[in-house]
Amino acid sequence: MLRSVTSAHDEAVASPKENEPSPSGPGREASSDRAPSRPQRAALVALTLVVVSGLAFVVFRGAGLVPTWGQSPSDEAAAVANTPTPEAAAQLKVSDLPAFPTPAADADITRKLELHTTLPDRPRAKVIKYTVKQGDTLFDIADKYGLQPESILWGNYDLLKGSPDSLRTDQELNILPVDGTYYQWQEGDSIRGVAGFFRVAPEDILDYPGNNLAGYASVDEVTIDPGTWLIVPGGKREVVTWQAPRITRANPGTARYVGPGACSGGFDGPVGEPSFIWPTTLKTISGNGYSSVHPAIDIAGAVGNAVYASASGVVVYSGWNDWGYGYMIVLDHGNGWQTLYGHLSGINVGCGQGVAQGRVIGAVGSTGNSTGPHLHFEMQSDLYGKVNPLNFVSP
Ligand SMILES: [Zn+2]
Repeated sequence: MLRSVTSAHDEAVASPKENEPSPSGPGREASSDRAPSRPQRAALVALTLVVVSGLAFVVFRGAGLVPTWGQSPSDEAAAVANTPTPEAAAQLKVSDLPAFPTPAADADITRKLELHTTLPDRPRAKVIKYTVKQGDTLFDIADKYGLQPESILWGNYDLLKGSPDSLRTDQELNILPVDGTYYQWQEGDSIRGVAGFFRVAPEDILDYPGNNLAGYASVDEVTIDPGTWLIVPGGKREVVTWQAPRITRANPGTARYVGPGACSGGFDGPVGEPSFIWPTTLKTISGNGYSSVHPAIDIAGAVGNAVYASASGVVVYSGWNDWGYGYMIVLDHGNGWQTLYGHLSGINVGCGQGVAQGRVIGAVGSTGNSTGPHLHFEMQSDLYGKVNPLNFVSP
């Protein structure tokens, strides 16, 4: 079933929050029509004074008439005064790069949505298992259990190596009861050490019911058998996802370690247009959206659907990627932008070839680490780094 992102989002926003008091509770309606009472007037006067003096402070401070001091909440005012002027910003050389457009209207983008959220009635404190089905993505699974995608990665660190592209059908995943990390106790570990590594307080681990450590009065008394798994609520790891490097027409050979599709030499060729086009036939986001662990969008497709050059450019990678993207093409657009097309079933262009915008360069597939046919599409800019393609292309 296809649904628009906008309507799904609106539903979520519109759903009532049971615990919030009604904004128009008893007693409020009655007072709103009357003139303010004396205490209310006094409060209004006081509020006005506070606002006026606050504004005066900001103005004088901006003009250097009020001394500044360290780390106070009113440093926000100083930050306002220090904001670069438009002249300073204009020194950035953005003239020969496409402008950063406003995000594409959500209404135009559809996303496959499964409304199978399995939120338990009572909070669970134990890890449960989930077997990956064909077509699953990290993001689907996280949604299903009300977790962040990172918590699925970090609950299965040995299996997934921190990468959503490691997900395979029939893998058995740990589903943590809360967002955080999962850690197997080693000989010589301490709660303080583990907590420090995952950037939480030691008590967060000690007090978590699922860890069964309630018998200890303090973290320093804890003894745990090596091999025991601990839930680290709120724990974080570095995001260590493999990410495709920047591959340019000047020196595409730097991508040799990526796989046998690397190109050698340096190339000349077409330069990209100021705007990009949608790179395949279907217009639906099928799985992983853009995030820090997945700097790309996955677009729905069937094996063999056309893949188009999103802008004119030169082929700087064409072939197998050893890191999970299967058959992959990278185009360098010569204007500071590169685009990447992964999991292809076929490739129609070779190293150094110039391609025009809209030309068929390959076919959608499911090669590499993929649970079903889709196009993995990345955009990278010298100025912005990896960007969410939905900010630059519309379906
Ligand atoms: Zn992807």
